[in-house]
Amino acid sequence: MSDVREVIIIGSGPTGYTAAVYTARANLAPLLFTGAVEAGGALMNTTEVENFPGFPEGIMGPDLMMNMRAQAERFGAELVEEDVVEVDLTGPIKVVKDANGDEYRAKAVILAMGSGYRRLGVPGEDRLSGKGVSWCATCDGFFFRNKGIAVIGGGDSAVEEATFLSRFGETVTMIVRRDALRASKIMAARAEADPKISIVWDSVVETINGDNTVSSITVRNVKTDETTELPVQGVFVAIGHDPRSALVRGQVDLDDAGYVLVKPGSQETNLPGVFAAGDLVDHTYRQAITAAGTGCAAALDAERYLASLG
Ligand code: FAD
Repeated sequence: MSDVREVIIIGSGPTGYTAAVYTARANLAPLLFTGAVEAGGALMNTTEVENFPGFPEGIMGPDLMMNMRAQAERFGAELVEEDVVEVDLTGPIKVVKDANGDEYRAKAVILAMGSGYRRLGVPGEDRLSGKGVSWCATCDGFFFRNKGIAVIGGGDSAVEEATFLSRFGETVTMIVRRDALRASKIMAARAEADPKISIVWDSVVETINGDNTVSSITVRNVKTDETTELPVQGVFVAIGHDPRSALVRGQVDLDDAGYVLVKPGSQETNLPGVFAAGDLVDHTYRQAITAAGTGCAAALDAERYLASLG
């Protein structure tokens, strides 16, 4: 069947682009869906990346992703700037449908959809999203110059957001559910030493308040149950991510948290010819370099699978 491709890659973060470089260089003419909203993946939302090997002075996240894209295209990867909305991965020929309703078929599929920001699920969050509530400090921090800002969360990304936002905000208050930061020691020490950052421990956000824009948050101490209202204009939610696996749920095996399960020592899913890598699979390391590394492994696994078909 001439319209059946060798391999389709879904996602354009470090995982997808690395898989595209490898499969393109193996003459498999990959077709890669970038996604319509976040082409380039999570690093498009950050500034300096200092820990991707090969860039001793660091590199801006979007520049790194544009380089990866250019490298994939240089070897002939074909890119479609659309979301995939439906898949049938169960048979030997995989069917992938995009948001335009166009259908594509391939013998192998590499899933590289990454993960998305987790929501608090409190009143006011959705209504005031984009009106003071944000998930991306580097995208929106500028709007909160000399304003009161709250950052929700105590992990690495919360600390990173808070440290970045202290450049803009008059005050940055971290709301942390426990009595310690989960962030790495070096990141936590940086936040704790920053005179603009204060931390409210043992506390959760009950509601985000405001008519047209955020004016305050109501915070509850989980130990005393006492609630207080903190006047802020910006709320940055940094409580983690959820894997974007809804597309393949019911076909590909997932763990309890929704991450795609792969066989030990490989990037193979439960379905022959379907591979998965990066933050969609990994809830431990979650780094650009590990995403790229597993994207490479998925490509090599796909290559071997296709060779085995003869
Ligand atoms: P992602 O980068 O999330 O890419 C997923 C891709 O899938 C996106 O292109 C999306 O559009 C696409 N997609 C999803 N669903 C669909 C669909 N249905 N159809 C088509 N496409 C779809 N890591 C570091 O190593 N160093 C850092 O300094 C660093 N800083 C970070 C800063 C921030 C603010 C964030 C959020 C993350 C940071 N990370 C950093 C982590 C790093 O960005 C991730 O580990 C990495 O991007 C994961 O790569 P991925 O390709 O698996 O997923």
